[in-house]
Amino acid sequence: MKAQLLTIGDELLIGQTTNTNAAWLGGRLSRLGVRMTRTVTVGDAREAIFRELDRAYEEARFVICTGGLGPTHDDLTRTVIADYFGAPLQTDPDVLERVRQYYDRRNRDVPPSAPALAQRPEGFETLDNPVGAAVGLWHEAPDGRLIVLLPGIPEEMTAIFEASVQPRLEEQSGVGEVRHRTLVTAGIGETALQEKLGDLSDVLGDDVSLAYLPSTSGVRLRLSADARQTMAGARLDTVEAAIRERAGDDIIGTGDVTLEAVLGDALRARDATIASAESATGGLIGHRLTGVSGSSDYYLGSVVAYANSAKKTVLGVDEAAIREHGAVSEAVAVQMAEGVREALGTTVGVSTTGIAGPTGGTPDKPVGTVWVGYADASERHARRHQFVEDRTLNKELFASAALEEARRTLSA
Ligand code: ATP
Ligand code: MG
Repeated sequence: MKAQLLTIGDELLIGQTTNTNAAWLGGRLSRLGVRMTRTVTVGDAREAIFRELDRAYEEARFVICTGGLGPTHDDLTRTVIADYFGAPLQTDPDVLERVRQYYDRRNRDVPPSAPALAQRPEGFETLDNPVGAAVGLWHEAPDGRLIVLLPGIPEEMTAIFEASVQPRLEEQSGVGEVRHRTLVTAGIGETALQEKLGDLSDVLGDDVSLAYLPSTSGVRLRLSADARQTMAGARLDTVEAAIRERAGDDIIGTGDVTLEAVLGDALRARDATIASAESATGGLIGHRLTGVSGSSDYYLGSVVAYANSAKKTVLGVDEAAIREHGAVSEAVAVQMAEGVREALGTTVGVSTTGIAGPTGGTPDKPVGTVWVGYADASERHARRHQFVEDRTLNKELFASAALEEARRTLSA
């Protein structure tokens, strides 16, 4: 089943609101096996909405729209849809009652605009909103084409999707057409990974496709197969096995796993704890580790030691090491990792000291240079990486490198 998404709102066009609805719905629909063929954003303009709606409805069996369903004068979706289908707007008394109750429960006066929320074009069904007043709308044409309208507010859109749209879609024929599987890698760049995997065309054949999705925490490999073929699952297994054989320890998991969660599992499995000594990352490693629920099992804390004086007084780094090798050096990275491990009494200490940029680079240590340190009871070392020019990206890349250093060393 081909699907197109229409996100509506001036705020999306001018960058005032990030279009998270498009990303969220794209992810959800593709996981359901719906084939997304186009996403369009238009402003709050009747003509534009009408035109794009017409095109989408011509091209795809399933059209989903978000935004402009509210009661304010800039919310045009409902009336445009009514015009497009030549279906007069009718007030749904049940919905009107629920809208009234919604405001009553909150001890708020029912606004004069409330009746607008209860209007639906003839032939459309309403979809309950578990978290707000605006309902969704669903229309199934005799030829099987579907159109679904959802409010713009992300929490309301996702709530209606999960409660009503997804269960109904799962009943539709043609859903589940595409199967995806994602293999998550860490510690290797896109180009190196591609070289390592080599030519996979024999394994992939015509029926499985492979996409490389790089991010600051690693490259994800997305495999897609046509689920209508009976062997889709087995074919994905075969390709996954071939990739695992070549990429080995670069693969940290599948689906939505994160590097920090995988490291957390590795620590927990060994009854080990971790702390970080962070210069260039400014606490980002701690932030990433604490983003995982249950991380208190293994994460004890971080020291952000940005200035040399902090590295010396809090982490016990030698004045001599700094003077001889500079703060961004193997010796200092190792001492930082050892220092935080000792200060917090953990099994593992990791550290970062680097040049995030855009200033501060030298010919020897250009912007993007980082030393990542690692220390445990029997092992201490540091590794140098050379990343990019951008400060924000570098901080993320440095933090990922430290998390990955710990994961790889522990699982070696
Ligand atoms: P309401 O009942 O609040 O009027 P609505 O369906 O009319 O809902 P909009 O008015 O278009 O929705 O948008 C409401 C809010 O939802 C906007 O302020 C915007 O921040 C957010 N929003 C709208 N569309 C998107 C989108 N595609 N992604 C993320 N946020 C969005
Ligand atoms: Mg609105």
